Amino acid sequence: MRIVLFGPPGVGKGSQAQFLSEREKVTHISTGILLRRAIRSESKLGLEAASYVEQGKLVPGPLVRSLAEAAMTSCQYDRFVLDGYPRTIEQADWLAEFLKSHNTHLDTVLSLVVSNEDIIDRLSKRRVNRITGENYHLDFKPPPADAEPGVIIQRIDDLPEAILPRLKIYQESTHPVQEYYRSLGLLQEIEGTGSFEQVYDRILAAIMNSAG
Ligand code: AMP
Repeated sequence: MRIVLFGPPGVGKGSQAQFLSEREKVTHISTGILLRRAIRSESKLGLEAASYVEQGKLVPGPLVRSLAEAAMTSCQYDRFVLDGYPRTIEQADWLAEFLKSHNTHLDTVLSLVVSNEDIIDRLSKRRVNRITGENYHLDFKPPPADAEPGVIIQRIDDLPEAILPRLKIYQESTHPVQEYYRSLGLLQEIEGTGSFEQVYDRILAAIMNSAG
């Protein structure tokens, strides 16, 4: 199972990919989580990436690629769900070449679709456990009331001033990746509204569909 979970920021990719990885025993590879971890640990890569992530801009390709490459190598190029990668046509091209060089390929690309208003609502009400990376939503999945102070935070790039630039970057650079995968016959669009379980069931059905 080699899957890309695709869609705009805030569409719910991260939570769905996390759940899928636990249920189906696949490795969840989120370049956003890997970058935030690198930033927290103040590694060289983290220091280089920090200002891009904080402003909601795309981190330069080679930096993100090295994280994606290491993660796919650790799981021997199989049983993974990519979340937040690829975000540009260049990254998608590299990914195809990388998998091909290891005699493998993507099985399917699942694109989660929700309205723009929903996205802005989800991003502005998202909170995250800065240690585990688990996401919450102030209305639908409130953070635990007994969490240690300072553990549940709002991501800097979820603040209002970063949301619109992120959506613009998504439209300009990332959305074309969807058409790229459609032209390869790999894309399945999935309605991202409804309960978490409903969306998860649609994802699972699409994975079964791609397995033939
Ligand atoms: P995410 O958690 O997927 O929303 O990613 C958070 C931030 O990490 C993005 O806004 C970018 O700054 C950076 N990032 C994550 N994945 C990529 C990628 N594939 N290419 C470039 N930047 C990325």
